[in-house]
Amino acid sequence: MNKKITLIPGDGIGPDIIEQAVSVLDALAQKYNHRFEYTSVLAGGAAIDAQGVPLPQASLDACLASDAVLLGAVGGPKWDNIPGIRPEQALLGLRSGMKVFANLRPALIFKQLKNACPLKDEITEGGLDILIVRELTGGIYFGERGRSGNEAWDTEKYSAAEIERIVRLGFKAAEKRQKRLCLVDKANILESSRLWREVAERIKTDYPSVELSYLYVDNAAMQLVRNPRQFDVIVTSNMFGDILSDEASQITGSIGMLASASLGDGTGPGLYEPIHGSAPDIAGKDLANPLATILSCALMMRYSFNAETEACAIERAVERVLDDGWRTADIAGSDAASLKAAGKLVGTKAMGKRVVEALKNI
Ligand code: NAD
Repeated sequence: MNKKITLIPGDGIGPDIIEQAVSVLDALAQKYNHRFEYTSVLAGGAAIDAQGVPLPQASLDACLASDAVLLGAVGGPKWDNIPGIRPEQALLGLRSGMKVFANLRPALIFKQLKNACPLKDEITEGGLDILIVRELTGGIYFGERGRSGNEAWDTEKYSAAEIERIVRLGFKAAEKRQKRLCLVDKANILESSRLWREVAERIKTDYPSVELSYLYVDNAAMQLVRNPRQFDVIVTSNMFGDILSDEASQITGSIGMLASASLGDGTGPGLYEPIHGSAPDIAGKDLANPLATILSCALMMRYSFNAETEACAIERAVERVLDDGWRTADIAGSDAASLKAAGKLVGTKAMGKRVVEALKNI
């Protein structure tokens, strides 16, 4: 395949991790005879410095003209106090400009890193692999809000069409996995949640292989720490997804390992990025873990390019590197000293190189 990929290194560790992800994409292209053509654009603090705005129109145009977008991270203390302008505005601009309405966040525990999981061993025995599908452009974050005297209000509002497109995406994701979809809502209280259920009931017959279940959000928050293995795919609204996806990522204990994909109706490019931020404390020091960004490239293969073999190759290469004991500092845990003595504690560049080597031998 021949694909155009727009790169947004962004700020902080963004450039460090994107560099390694590109080296993995290059190795993948070579292995499977693909051609990836990259365009690198500015966004976030880097764009504020160069052009005075967090998302220049030319950057968005380049994203829209490509097949997929890979983002590092944006933001940092340098840009925290500019009146009316923030690097993170680039993220909202990208989401709305690219019309991506679904955020897919896998929360998985790598067996090699299970010590990082704060839950008891018996709860996560056999591993954990949940996909949270969050609605991204509707609901209470975008609904009517206001103030009157000492009162303030926000509105949760969804149309059936908005619900249908995200729930369908949840069904389709479940079809490719363990075929279980759980709709998380608050249908015992909220009218909007009852519409979510009505829509899900109406369309479920289109996905006969998927088992659909429902859970109230308060119970879901509890079940995620009590018995997370019951979940395969969770689909939910913007606010519930915001909260639950952070909870789920903490269960894995490894912020430097988690990827995400933001997708639209399939007619435009998807946006792929690690879930972590720009980590200004370790920027440019060759300390950042590039694996979340590299795993975001696996999601790009799977969801934008329909290239499952390539996606699995990246994921297996990462697994192999972990199996061989290579760790960046953030995932070394209490073994850091012994890993260092054994020469297995590596920086951003060496970790990227290890994945490239592993990929060649998959
Ligand atoms: P953060 O995720 O950047 O960092 C939290 C902690 O995790 C830090 O100690 C950091 O060093 C560590 N960490 C994060 N990613 C790591 C990696 N790949 N390897 C090793 N360690 C890693 O969150 P924060 O400190 O709250 O935010 C820093 C900046 O990033 C802020 O300006 C924030 O607004 C921005 N941010 C951007 C995004 C995004 O671009 N999508 C997301 C979250 C935060």
